[in-house]
Amino acid sequence: MVSKPPAGDPVQDAPQVTPPQHAAAGLPAIGHTLRIAQEQMGAVRTARTLLKVNQKDGFDCPGCAWPEGDKRHLAEFCENGAKAVAEEATLRRVTPGFFAAHPVAELAERSGYWLGQQGRITQPMYLPEGADRYEPVTWERAFAILAEELTALSSPDEALFYTSGRTSNEAAFLLQLFAREFGTNNLPDCSNMCHESSGSALTETIGIGKGSVSLEDLHRADLIVVAGQNPGTNHPRMLSALEKAKAAGARIISVNPLPEAGLERFKNPQTPQGMLKGTALTDLFLQIRIGGDQALFRLLNKLVLETPGAVDEEFVREHTHGFEEFAAAAGEADWAETLAATGLSRAEIERALEMVLASERTIVCWAMGLTQHKHSVPTIREVVNLLLLRGNIGRPGAGVCPVRGHSNVQGDRTMGIFERPAPAFLDALDKEFGIVSPRHHGFDVVRSIQALRDGEAKVFFAMGGNFVDATPDTEVTEAAMRRARLTVHVSTKLNRSHVVTGARALILPTLGRTDKDVQKSGRQFVTVEDSMGLVHASRGNLPPASPHLLSEPAIVTRMARAVLGEASRTPWEDFEADYAAVRDRIARVVPGFEDFNARLAANPGGFALPHAPRDERRFPTKTGRANFTAAPVEYPRVPEGRLLLQTLRSHDQYNTTIYGLDDRYRGIRGGRRVVLVHPEDAAALGLADGAYADLVSEWTDGSERRAPGFRVVHYPTARGCAAAYYPETNVLVPLESTADISNTPASKSVIVRLEESPQPSA
Ligand code: SF4
Repeated sequence: MVSKPPAGDPVQDAPQVTPPQHAAAGLPAIGHTLRIAQEQMGAVRTARTLLKVNQKDGFDCPGCAWPEGDKRHLAEFCENGAKAVAEEATLRRVTPGFFAAHPVAELAERSGYWLGQQGRITQPMYLPEGADRYEPVTWERAFAILAEELTALSSPDEALFYTSGRTSNEAAFLLQLFAREFGTNNLPDCSNMCHESSGSALTETIGIGKGSVSLEDLHRADLIVVAGQNPGTNHPRMLSALEKAKAAGARIISVNPLPEAGLERFKNPQTPQGMLKGTALTDLFLQIRIGGDQALFRLLNKLVLETPGAVDEEFVREHTHGFEEFAAAAGEADWAETLAATGLSRAEIERALEMVLASERTIVCWAMGLTQHKHSVPTIREVVNLLLLRGNIGRPGAGVCPVRGHSNVQGDRTMGIFERPAPAFLDALDKEFGIVSPRHHGFDVVRSIQALRDGEAKVFFAMGGNFVDATPDTEVTEAAMRRARLTVHVSTKLNRSHVVTGARALILPTLGRTDKDVQKSGRQFVTVEDSMGLVHASRGNLPPASPHLLSEPAIVTRMARAVLGEASRTPWEDFEADYAAVRDRIARVVPGFEDFNARLAANPGGFALPHAPRDERRFPTKTGRANFTAAPVEYPRVPEGRLLLQTLRSHDQYNTTIYGLDDRYRGIRGGRRVVLVHPEDAAALGLADGAYADLVSEWTDGSERRAPGFRVVHYPTARGCAAAYYPETNVLVPLESTADISNTPASKSVIVRLEESPQPSA
């Protein structure tokens, strides 16, 4: 029976804690999947959606960007994919009546979980200046308000057009086209906060900011290193690929400050053997100190260089640049410093070396655990150094594998959603549309918040996402958002960004992935690009959640017509009527998409984009070769009596969407304000398991930030390291604490002190 949304905010945060689990998925995953699906969708809708998700004639999972194999299973989804689908295809509705009953100030007191559980927004809503609650507005009026504010700006650069990774290729291409015809490159996106460090490091070293492996490569690898990633929760079907690789003889090294159930054992619900016994995945668990990865890979590089015959000299000679300088720097790597930086033992590193040397086909996978540190770009470069040394790029079963978080975050970037676009891309765009795109770089996410804070930016437009919960320095970001003249969110469901508004605000409800999309020319489909560069179609199959919704492409084309008016020669109406017309233009502007529509028709499962390093061992870098690099080794130094905190997701969470208050693999139920601390560190700080503490981050400028009332959980973290969930801990990370070069918020290494405090009252 479909359940009603929670009336009140659930019990205050009184989490129950049991020992962490050592296996992921299995029967419990099926149980949770069906329970949540039933609660949100009921039985019939559950079947209609879950049998279509990730199928070739179905819709793409609105969860992460993990690829599908060519052969599709009946159930081609994981527990968290099912949760993402259920949340979007829910039968719960947020109507104008809801907004009439709930003033914005009251909604701002509600948890993100409660807001998200209210259901799909059914009509465009407007918050007039000075009003205390949203009111229904017609689409025409909504676009008129947008045009009023945008055309009143003294510069197009006072506008910000943010994109979350759920946005389809077609909508992303249209949004960047509109922004550039309007006159700005202010196109911040969620990639700025997640894999920007990967893009920066890979573009410099191999010439393209994307992973170089396919699913087949993962199945063929004989060594897979999973660093700074928790696939059991964040990319669950990756476990199936790891299981398949293991079955083929691969060995797995996981590098992580936390033991994660999904990397210990995978109970594959698709097979009886999997369900009962499961497969042990990790062969070597390196429980590294937060931020110690660069030091680890640097020492491994030194040891490989010192091992006779270990270097693929022909590959190095034929395809690389900068070897000598790199080898000299690697030669400086020091055991003592590396052990201090990593917290690992000599034996563990020597074991890892043995596995690296025994491997002929090595893949390194990573996620936020490598990308959200001050020295993330040099860290990822060091990973590339290790792969280049043994020729593990551009060969089957080998390569780099940054695993993307959001389902189309890579596609959005490919479509031109980038504040620092390549001149060649703008040249092609201008030639195709007869526009003159701005050439000065725009604002990324952090720079956008600074611009709002400083009054430089006045209009904020977001295509999906939950900006204020996804970004750092919560108090600063929320105050900055409130300085805007107008904030606009294209959304499917309620979230905190709807209640932290500018002087006036709009909520523009849109179709979800599961919704059927019918335009003038008939039923439409959109496309996405997964983490491995496969582009495929997505067709919703459910009646839209409301007759008042517009698709993402329709919203962009109508905004463009309202703002640009008759002066624009871009055929916005044609693009709204038929997305194939958008794809024809993409085919002429974006390399790799030639004959886009024809190739989609010929390949129901999608097609792979070209990747020169993978396909031809050709490296389109500044040197025309793969670049070794030799950055100085960095790692966080933590004062006595302080801990190094990483912010992370629970298992009932996807980015800022909170599906529930449990994190069952880590043994936590019914609450999110918890801080995981090693028992010996807690003892040294005088904090019993179950005690409460405020987390206080300390910064070199003398400033501090406080997150109050966290339940201390004694947990087998790496010594000196702690962990807690975001968005609750985003307040601890100053805007200026970012990775060098990529400007990605450094949310994975925050020096904190824990101040014991009373248990928050319910
Ligand atoms: S692995 Fe990712 S894309 Fe696949 S079903 Fe799960 S959440 Fe969705």
